[in-house]
Amino acid sequence: MATRAFRWLPYAGGRHAISVRLVPCEAGVTLCGLEVVVPHDPPPAFPDGCWPTCVECDAKWRAFERIPVFPRPRKAGDSVGEVRAVAKRSGGGR
Ligand SMILES: [Zn+2]
Repeated sequence: MATRAFRWLPYAGGRHAISVRLVPCEAGVTLCGLEVVVPHDPPPAFPDGCWPTCVECDAKWRAFERIPVFPRPRKAGDSVGEVRAVAKRSGGGR
């Protein structure tokens, strides 16, 4: 199973990515460069876990994990082939 290098921590009004190697009470830096001290107890899922994802952390995390940005840039008609394939598999294609 693949090990992730980062996890998400609600901090200062946003969800930031930090190294999985940071342990509670340890000081570190988020992907966007904020200095954090990992809390001893995990922050509550609500409302902290619902804070918006830090755009800069998200971009750097996606680059690290090779996950394309979402929504992906696409042209009109890009999904036509996929739609036809699904229709064919379900027996509704022409
Ligand atoms: Zn961040």
